Amino acid sequence: MSHRDTVIIGGGVAGCSLAYLLEQRGMNVTLLEKGEIGGLLREIEFDSGYYCDSAPHLLFFDEETEPEVGELFSQLTDLTHHDFYAATYPEGRLDDPHHYPVTEENIDRWADAEEIREEVASTPGHSDADNFEEYVLDQVGPTLYERYYRSYTEKHWGIQPEHIVGDWFDFKINFPESERDFFGDGAYYPEATYADVLSEMITDCKVVFEGATGLITDGDQVEGVRTESGDVVTGDTYVSTIDPSLLVGEGDQLRYRSMVILGVHVVADERPFPSHVDWGYFPNDYAFTRLTDYGFTPQSLPDNEYILTAEFPCFTGDDRWTHPDEWFEHYLEEFLEAQGIDIEVIAAEVRRAPRAYPLPRAEDLETFERLQSQLSSYENLFTLGRNSTYEYIWIKDIVKRAYEIADELSLDS
Ligand SMILES: Cc1cc2nc3c(=O)[nH]c(=O)nc-3n(C[C@H](O)[C@H](O)[C@H](O)COP(=O)(O)OP(=O)(O)OC[C@H]3O[C@@H](n4cnc5c(N)ncnc54)[C@H](O)[C@@H]3O)c2cc1C
Repeated sequence: MSHRDTVIIGGGVAGCSLAYLLEQRGMNVTLLEKGEIGGLLREIEFDSGYYCDSAPHLLFFDEETEPEVGELFSQLTDLTHHDFYAATYPEGRLDDPHHYPVTEENIDRWADAEEIREEVASTPGHSDADNFEEYVLDQVGPTLYERYYRSYTEKHWGIQPEHIVGDWFDFKINFPESERDFFGDGAYYPEATYADVLSEMITDCKVVFEGATGLITDGDQVEGVRTESGDVVTGDTYVSTIDPSLLVGEGDQLRYRSMVILGVHVVADERPFPSHVDWGYFPNDYAFTRLTDYGFTPQSLPDNEYILTAEFPCFTGDDRWTHPDEWFEHYLEEFLEAQGIDIEVIAAEVRRAPRAYPLPRAEDLETFERLQSQLSSYENLFTLGRNSTYEYIWIKDIVKRAYEIADELSLDS
C-alpha cells in the first residue's frame, strides 16, 4: 500500500511533529487545522510584546533513553535545560510553600506531625487501588489526603476523586521520603516560541485552514476527510490528532476538563514565589489550581516586572467558562493583594482551552473505547496526540509515537 500522500488532521504538536518527520522522509503531507497552528502549545502574546505559555510547557525527556525528543526540537531551536522547582500551598498562603510532590518532609510542617507519622506508618503504601481516592489514602492516610490532595483533585478534575480511574496514579502520585525530582532530570525550554517552532515544522506541507467534520470510508479504508466547507481532502494515509467523536460515532461525545488560563504581565512590589520556585499548586478553595511565574523563558523583563499565569479549571457549560475576561484578572489581583503583593497590570490575556484534559472516568473511557474501535477498523488511519488517544500524555510521548508512525509509513511506502 502506498503511503506517499498523508492527510493529518490537527496542527498541534502532534500533527506538526509528524508532518515534519514525514516531509523529511520525502513524503507529501496535507495538514488540516481548524484554528491556528500550535494547539495547546500556542503561546499567549501580550500587547506589551512579551509572551508566555498557556500553562508552563517544559519539555521533559531523558537524554539517554528518549534522545529523539530533544533531537526533533533541536533541529529548529536551541533548548535550555531548566532545573525547575514546584511548590504546593496547602493553606493558600504564599509565605508558606511546601514541597511538591508531597514528601515525608512535608509532615514536619504541621503541628500534629506525630499523629500524621503514625497514620502514614499504618498505611499499606503503593497499592492496586482502582480509584484515585483509595490509591492516595493507601499511600498517605486521611490527614495528608485531606490537606494536599482531595480538594485539589476535585477542583482540577471537577469530579469526585472516588470516580477517578486511570493508569497514571503510579506516575503522578508518589510519596518519597525526601523531595525528589518527580519529573525526571531533563526539563528543557526552547529559545524560540513553540508557535514558531511548530510553524517551521510545516513549511513544506500543504496547509488547509478548515475543520474536519467526518470521514469518507469504504470498507476498511478511509477515502477522504470532509471539511466544514463541504470539500473533501484525500490522500493515501490519514492521521487524526483530534477528538475521535468529531469524526466517528453517532451521538457519542467525550467529556473533557476545560481550562481558562489567565496570562498577565505585571509590575509587582515583590515576586509571588521565592526565587527558586517556578510555580505553585493551590490545593484549597481558590478558583485556580496553579500559579506560574515565567522567569524560565528566554525573555528579559525589567526589574519588578513579571509574567504570570493562573489556571482556572471548569467545564464548558459552567458559569466560570463564560465569566468575562476581567473576572479572572480581578480574581488574581485580589488574591495577590490579600497576600500583601500589590500589582499593576501592564497587559492581560485570557485563553480558553475546551479540551485541556481527557476526563479519567470509567464511562468516558468506555465511550472512547467504542469510538477507537471504529477508528481502528480503518487500515489506513492512525491516531496520535492527546485528544485522539484520550490519554493524559506529555509532549515527549507524542513525539516518540510520531517517530514510530513516520518510520512505519516510510518503510511501507
Ligand atoms: C495545563 C496543561 C499543562 C501542560 N503542561 C505540559 C508540560 O509542561 N509538558 C508536556 O510535555 N506536556 C504538557 N501538557 C500536555 C501537552 O500540552 C499536550 O500533550 C500537547 O500539547 C497535545 O498536543 P496535540 O497536538 O495532541 O493536541 P492539541 O494541542 O490540542 O492540538 C490539536 C489541534 O487540532 C486542531 N483541531 C481540533 N479540531 C479540529 C478539526 N475538527 N479539524 C482540524 N483541526 C482541528 C486544534 O485547533 C489544535 O490545533 C500540558 C497540558 C495542559 C492542558
